[in-house]
Amino acid sequence: MEYISTRGSAAALDFEGATLAGLASDGGLYLPSQWPRFSHEEIADMAGLPYAQLAAQIMQPFVGDSLTKDELLALCEQAYGRFSHNAVVPLVQLDEQQWLLELFHGPTLAFKDVALQLLGLLFETFLTRRKSNLTIVGATSGDTGSAAIDAVAGREGIDIFMLHPKGRVSDVQRRQMTTVRAPNIHNIAIEGSFDDAQAMVKRMFNDDHMTSRFNIGAVNSINWARLMAQVVYYFAAALQLGGPDRKVAFSVPTGNFGDVFAGYVAAQMGLPIEQLLVATNVNDILHRALSQGDYSAGSVTPTAAPSMDIQVSSNFERLLFDCGGRDGPAMAAQMAAFEQDKAMRLTNAQREGASSLFTSARAEPDDMNEALRWAHDHAGQIIDPHTAIGLHAARNVKVETGIPMVTLATAHPAKFSDAVERATGLRPQLPARIGDLMAREEAFSELPGDYDAVRSFIEERASSAA
Ligand SMILES: *Cc1c(COP(=O)(O)O)cnc(C)c1O
Repeated sequence: MEYISTRGSAAALDFEGATLAGLASDGGLYLPSQWPRFSHEEIADMAGLPYAQLAAQIMQPFVGDSLTKDELLALCEQAYGRFSHNAVVPLVQLDEQQWLLELFHGPTLAFKDVALQLLGLLFETFLTRRKSNLTIVGATSGDTGSAAIDAVAGREGIDIFMLHPKGRVSDVQRRQMTTVRAPNIHNIAIEGSFDDAQAMVKRMFNDDHMTSRFNIGAVNSINWARLMAQVVYYFAAALQLGGPDRKVAFSVPTGNFGDVFAGYVAAQMGLPIEQLLVATNVNDILHRALSQGDYSAGSVTPTAAPSMDIQVSSNFERLLFDCGGRDGPAMAAQMAAFEQDKAMRLTNAQREGASSLFTSARAEPDDMNEALRWAHDHAGQIIDPHTAIGLHAARNVKVETGIPMVTLATAHPAKFSDAVERATGLRPQLPARIGDLMAREEAFSELPGDYDAVRSFIEERASSAA
C-alpha cells in the first residue's frame, strides 16, 4: 500500500515510512493512495472474531508488505492484551436505540490507548529493523499525551516531548503524564491553547534545522497509523449490532476529527454506516463547517470536555482532500489560505461529499449536564463529559427506528470526576489499575508559548540525533 500527501508534493511512502514520518514534508497528511474494500461476505465472515484477530484482518491491507500477517497479529495481541476488558471495546445498551461503545478500558482510560498501544509497538518494530532513533514531538489536549507516554515509556531508541496547554487539562490527565518517570519522557506545560501547541509541533516537522538533526516522529492523529487502528472498532461495533446486514449510526465526540474520520474510512472500506454524527462542544468550528460550509477558527473556550477544546482540526484536511477529488495542489492552496486568514469556505464538492455521511451538532454546557444525568437516571451509566456531548447529539438527531445509534464513549468518567460530580452529584472512582496516581510525584517543565523556546528545549535534551 502506498501513502500520498494531501498537499501533493511530498514523496509517496509505504506504511512503515508513513508511520515513522508522521506529517508529510510538504505540511500535508498521509493517506492511502486508494481505499481497500471488503465485500459484504468478507465483512459478514468477520463476525465473532476476537478483537486482536479482527484488528489484524482489517489493518492488513493498509500495512501491506511492511509486516507479515503473523507479525501484525502478534503486535495486535500484545497491544490489546493490556486492556482490562476481554471484549477490549464492549458495547453497552442504554435504551431501544441508544448504545455506548466503551473505548476506555486501556491503560490510561481513554480511547487514545486503542491506537497508541499499537503505535508504540509499530515504532519499536520499525526502529529496531532500521537501527535508528525517533524523537517524538506531540501536542495533547489531555489524553493523547498520557496514552503516548504509557506506550513508549522506557523504550529503546525513542525520546518523547509532550506539550500540554498549561492549566487546561484535568488533574488526572496531567498526572497520568507527569508521574511517569523514565529518562526518555519530557513533559512541557506550555502557555496557550492546544491549537497553539499543535501549530508549534507542525512547524517543527517543517523546520529543516530540526529535521536534519533528528528523526521527528508524531503520535498525534496526524499519524495515519492511529486512524487505521481506530477503524477497527467501527467494524467491531457494527458486527455485534447486525452489520453488515443492518446499517448502524455513530455519534462521535470530536476534536481533531481523527476518531470520526476513522468511521469515514470504515465506510469507504465497505462497512454499511447510516450516519456519522460529529458532536462538538461550544468550540464548534466543525459543526459550522459541516452545516454551513464555514471553516473559520475563533479563539478556544475552555470547557469541562477539554479534549474537544480545539478549533483547528488537523484531520479535517484528510476529508476535504478525499471529498474534493484528491487534488493535492488545490488542497495546498486552500490550506495556505486558511493558515493565513484562519478562515475558509468549503467547495461545493467538499460540502456535497461530506454531507452524504456526516451530520453535526453542537452541545452547550447545559446539554452536556443533562445527558450526563439522563445516562445515569435512565440507564444506570456514569459517563464522562466528552461522551455526554456525543450522547446529547445522538438523542437529538433523527435516525430511523431500527437503526442502532452508537455513541463512542471516549473516556472513563473518573478522568473528569469534578465535572461528572457537578452534573450528577456522584463522584466516579478511578479503577484500581491506576493505583496511587494522585499521590505520586510529578515532573514537568514550563515554557512560554514561543516556538524558539520549545525548539531549544528539545535540542538540548533529545538524545537520539539521526
Ligand atoms: C481526543 C479525545 C476526543 C476527540 O477525538 P478526536 O480524534 O481528536 O476528534 C474526544 N474525547 C476524548 C475523551 C478524547 O480524549
